[in-house]
Amino acid sequence: MFEVEKTFTFEAGHVLHHHDGVCSRPHGHSYVLKVAVRKEHLLSTGPQQGMVVDFHQIRSAVKPMLDEFFDHHWLNDTIKTESPTAEFIAKWIFDYLYPQIEGLFRVTVCETATSSASYTKIE
Ligand SMILES: [Zn+2]
Repeated sequence: MFEVEKTFTFEAGHVLHHHDGVCSRPHGHSYVLKVAVRKEHLLSTGPQQGMVVDFHQIRSAVKPMLDEFFDHHWLNDTIKTESPTAEFIAKWIFDYLYPQIEGLFRVTVCETATSSASYTKIE
C-alpha cells in the first residue's frame, strides 16, 4: 500500500461553548492540516505515471475549501457548529474532500504543535 500526504496551514478563530476550560473563550489557532491518500497501485500511464496522486491535484481540492471555510474565518460560523474541535474539523474536511480526491484515506488537523486529531476511513 502506498500513501502520500500533503500539508497545509491556515489561521482561524473559534470558541468551544461547552468547554469547561480556557477553550470556552474566543481564541485562534495556526492550524496545520494534513491530507493523506492511499492506493494499492501507482498510476501506470499518463503524466502522473509512478504517482499515487499528483500533489497538485490535492492542492486544487483543498485550497478553495480553505479559502471559503477556514483561512481567517470564524469556524463556529463557517462550518456551523458550537464545538469546532480538531476532531469535528477533521471529519468535516474528510467528508467535504471525499468526493473530490480519489483514495482519500486520512485527514489530520493539528491545533498546536503537540495536539492533533485525525479522521480515517476504515474499509
Ligand atoms: Zn481552540
